[in-house]
Amino acid sequence: MPAIRPLKSLSTVPRRALAWIFLAASVLGLGLSGFIASSSRDVLKASTPLIREKLPLLEDIGQVERSLLAIQVNNHQYFAYSIPRAVYLERRAQLHETLEGSLARLGVAFPENQRLDKIRDVYRNSYQLGPRLDQLMEKSPSDKADLDDVRAVLVEMAIDANEINGQLTELRKHVEQSVLEAGAATEDSISRVAFLVTGYSVLIFLIALLVAYHIRARARAEDELAYNASHDVVTGQFNRRALEARINALAGQEQILVVIAVERFHRLVGTLGHEVADTALQAIAERILTHTEALHPELYRLDGANFALLYAPGRQTAEMDVALILEATVKPFNVGDYELLVSVSCGSARYPADGGNAVMLTRNANAALQQAKRSGKEFAAYTAALHEHSEQRLAMEVALRKAAAQDELELHYQPQLSIVDDRIIGAEALVRWRRDGKLVSPAEFIPIAEETGMIVEIGEWVLREACRQTVAWWRNGLGNPVVAVNISARQFQDPDFFAMIQRALTDTGARPEMMELEITESAIMHDPEGVVLELERLRALGFALAIDDFGTGYSSLAYLKRFPLDKLKVDQSFVRPLEANSPKEDKAIVSAVVQLGKTLNLHVIAEGVETEEQRDLLKQLGCDEIQGYWFSRPLPATAATEFLEKRMGDTVPAQ
Ligand code: C2E
Ligand code: MG
Ligand code: MG
Repeated sequence: MPAIRPLKSLSTVPRRALAWIFLAASVLGLGLSGFIASSSRDVLKASTPLIREKLPLLEDIGQVERSLLAIQVNNHQYFAYSIPRAVYLERRAQLHETLEGSLARLGVAFPENQRLDKIRDVYRNSYQLGPRLDQLMEKSPSDKADLDDVRAVLVEMAIDANEINGQLTELRKHVEQSVLEAGAATEDSISRVAFLVTGYSVLIFLIALLVAYHIRARARAEDELAYNASHDVVTGQFNRRALEARINALAGQEQILVVIAVERFHRLVGTLGHEVADTALQAIAERILTHTEALHPELYRLDGANFALLYAPGRQTAEMDVALILEATVKPFNVGDYELLVSVSCGSARYPADGGNAVMLTRNANAALQQAKRSGKEFAAYTAALHEHSEQRLAMEVALRKAAAQDELELHYQPQLSIVDDRIIGAEALVRWRRDGKLVSPAEFIPIAEETGMIVEIGEWVLREACRQTVAWWRNGLGNPVVAVNISARQFQDPDFFAMIQRALTDTGARPEMMELEITESAIMHDPEGVVLELERLRALGFALAIDDFGTGYSSLAYLKRFPLDKLKVDQSFVRPLEANSPKEDKAIVSAVVQLGKTLNLHVIAEGVETEEQRDLLKQLGCDEIQGYWFSRPLPATAATEFLEKRMGDTVPAQ
């Protein structure tokens, strides 16, 4: 068997892609941060010399200019005797110091700069003119010639100052140029940083969008999960889990729960397929909701073709409310090309009286539903008696499971006699349950086995055991009795049924002509279309087929004609009233049934024959065979074998 691969989660692929996107975005983000950091360092690198070096140089150049001007002013004031000599000398010394300081700093910034060298030379020349001026002024120039000398010194000093200023202007231009360049580099770095920051912001924004999208998708998925957890995907109605939650949340408010089962829905699925069946379920759900609208119910799909309605009790009784449901489903459903007729069974239970929690309430509503089915009605309400009954059934079910496993079942055989020639023609195999030493009637446990599905297992055992016994009788020359085995409707529905029969034949060596299969009239009529095909297959294998309990199952004569049957078993309820002076009608009924069998070309056997009188009457009415206590009770296998041996030994048939 190939290994079942787990379903691939729908979200795996996007999730993986998402992880990659986040990883890529993180790497990109880190890269961008790195770039931003390095660009910021560039800005720092470009702006630091500007602030620390270039700008102070401009200040120093200005200082030299100011000092030069001050020196000239000092000279002229001294010349004009506006200041005393001491002040002149002091100022000259101060200004010289300031100017030299500035020149020294400029010298550091522009080492080996020709222009600066020139400035230094000219200034030194000019500075050395200072003592000359002082000397001339000390002599207190009195004539024009002396004054001219002083003026000449002053003029030379002015020329030097001009020369220096000229050089300073050029130097300033040079500094300004480099300031501009540094500024441009800083601007470049800043704009690169700005660009990177913008890129980073866009990236973060995109990631935020992605995260938002992901969160939204996740929220949606969570909503969807929550919806699916409480809803049925086929009909869109609430599911069983939602019903349980709802009931448990009711907290004592009176409610009625009606469980609804659509009968034989699996047949519909088998014949028309799941798609049509799903559409039919949707249509059924909608119809039920529309018809019961006035009750404001909540509709739940439990499983398969089982629904439940939960509503608060109103003016009507549950019975009247259920009438609405039945009315809803009575008209045919048009599904695709098909017109489907469905029938439903309902069971109701009241909350909290019949069940104070979800488990008890649904269990009891289901018990009512089963009761309805058993009694052939469409609806039953839960009662305490039903509860007791269901408890007993539950106990029986548990015990029966053990019985099947622990060989507590045995098979008895009731001989069947031909009235015409008093020959044993066969026997019916009837199962018995030996429970604590006592025999339990199949009438008690077969219905439970059918309800729970255990009949499939029990039926297989019965068939195999009957086949084994029949082969033994045939091998031992005991008159080749045909052994009839009862088959439940439920067994027909089992997909393994046909294969099981073939296995039983092969394993035991039995042949189909040794066996007869009995199916009750009510089982056939419950699902005629489904059963007819199975019967045909069994007939084709060579089995004889009998319709059991005839007269109790409201056969449609039209159907009856179509079934591939061999034998009709008149139900004992018709045989029992027969006696010599019984009313004409009783005889007439049996006569009619016998005639019907004859018309359909069937052998007719009467069961439940307890008296000779009954046998005689049946013979008169044209019945072929009999089975009953008058002739023999059902016998355990050994007793049945002895019975057959004795009959074989009798030369004259017993009367
Ligand atoms: P049935 O198939 O109609 O079987 C005939 C029933 O009538 C048997 O009851 C039999 O013991 C009883 N009976 C026979 N002759 C007389 C008589 O003269 N008077 C009276 N009062 N009763 C008589 P039993 O064995 O209790 O079986 C009851 C039903 O249980 C059967 O009815 C059959 O429907 C079901 N059953 C029995 N064995 C099996 C089985 O192996 N598989 C299935 N699916 N159903 C079984
Ligand atoms: Mg029978
Ligand atoms: Mg019967």
